[in-house]
Amino acid sequence: MIEPTALPDNLLLTNLKKVVNWARRNSLWPMPFATACCGIELMATASSRYDLARFGMERMSFSPRQADLMIVAGRVTIKMMPVLQHIYQQMAEPKWVISMGACASTGGVFDAYATIQGVDQFMPVDVYVPGCPPRPETLIEGIMAIQRIIDQEGLPPAGHRRPLKLAIEPNYVPKPQPVGVPVTVGGKGI
Ligand code: SF4
Repeated sequence: MIEPTALPDNLLLTNLKKVVNWARRNSLWPMPFATACCGIELMATASSRYDLARFGMERMSFSPRQADLMIVAGRVTIKMMPVLQHIYQQMAEPKWVISMGACASTGGVFDAYATIQGVDQFMPVDVYVPGCPPRPETLIEGIMAIQRIIDQEGLPPAGHRRPLKLAIEPNYVPKPQPVGVPVTVGGKGI
């Protein structure tokens, strides 16, 4: 942070596009469309341990109004898809979409006629976050990929919305299982 008294006679110059993108990347407002277990990990990502507020994203919007980041977390059925598309169309431009987890991206293990085998068949997906469910770290990596795109590419040209189709690599190495549980009796370990 710059102390106002340290540079009394100086100006900071930048261009408007950089300032707008800086503000936009730090205030992505999610529209959570959580239908199943991946939604629990999405909630964990917003909790104090992972703290989405660091990204200016603590305002989960349960309305498309002002939301600009759709996060589809969980399986989507054919009956739900028109609702999802409707919400997506009502979101503010420019907007981005994350497909979180195997079910949203491919239907997962639900290879059934009623389950959409990948939401990208019906809406543009920018980032695929793998896992069943993805850990919060992986979702955060997906969100940061969108932030980098906003920084580098600026705003998508109006009327030319194309899905970015970025796939995130899992970035979490699970510890060997089962882990030992320390047990003490009378102050002594056994
Ligand atoms: S990907 Fe796994 S955790 Fe996520 S909704 Fe499907 S079954 Fe649940």
